[in-house]
Amino acid sequence: MKTFERLRKALLYITAATVGLVGVAVAQTPSASQGQSQDEEQQMGQEVFNELKAKGEIIESSPLYDQLRPIADAITRAAQPRYNHPFKFYLVHEPQPNAFATPGGNVYVVDSLLYFVKNTDELAGTLCHEVSHTIHHDTMTLMEKQQKIAEREVGAAILLGPSAAHVLAIALLGALHSLRYSRDVESRADITGSDICAATGYNPWGLVWLFQDFNNANVSQVPQLLSDHPNNQNRIEALERHFRRNPSVFKKFNPDPKSAIPLVVPDKAPEVFLR
Ligand SMILES: [Zn+2]
Repeated sequence: MKTFERLRKALLYITAATVGLVGVAVAQTPSASQGQSQDEEQQMGQEVFNELKAKGEIIESSPLYDQLRPIADAITRAAQPRYNHPFKFYLVHEPQPNAFATPGGNVYVVDSLLYFVKNTDELAGTLCHEVSHTIHHDTMTLMEKQQKIAEREVGAAILLGPSAAHVLAIALLGALHSLRYSRDVESRADITGSDICAATGYNPWGLVWLFQDFNNANVSQVPQLLSDHPNNQNRIEALERHFRRNPSVFKKFNPDPKSAIPLVVPDKAPEVFLR
């Protein structure tokens, strides 16, 4: 079965579980409405984009982009050769400081994350980590795993119709907000992220500093993207090991957070939403 079809089924399962419909098979004609020129990752990404736009969360213009854009541009230059769809960065307005990447190249940065991080390197580190999940196809792999579990549990094929695209996007968004990657997957994204960060010139120690901030922060203030990662110390050590083993790349960067340039963000920056 094609990956996208499997993902559709997995996502329907997730949706069904959410509304308590597990066990009810919905049989419809499989969708042929999506453009065949797009691949599965782009389709997934587009559906999430449409849903975020429909919810009025995507910020079309804001002075906050002045802070985000130079970092996003540098990451795109460093990371683009490793992924076959263009990376695009969007600010979104959501309750929790967060950042998440969808298959297809879109990276979403919650506005409040810019107020949470202490310097440009912490923000760059976070975004490099998210971009690395896309490069590694981690979301697709995780969804496929969930599909296999769903198939075992439901024990029946569930087919989706074209009208389910909307439902699908909502389900994927829900899944993105509660993704549970394994420690290995997270650590791999940290390592690749630190390589990308080093290539941009932003300090790859930024991610280490962010983990250290989390260890000292009030739990309720910790961004969702890392709050369910109980292994901050392991991840710090894995990064430090990687830095030591590759001195030609990392030795030039200062491990002292006091050396970082603070991220200056305008207070209550105005935001215009994409409609
Ligand atoms: Zn991650």
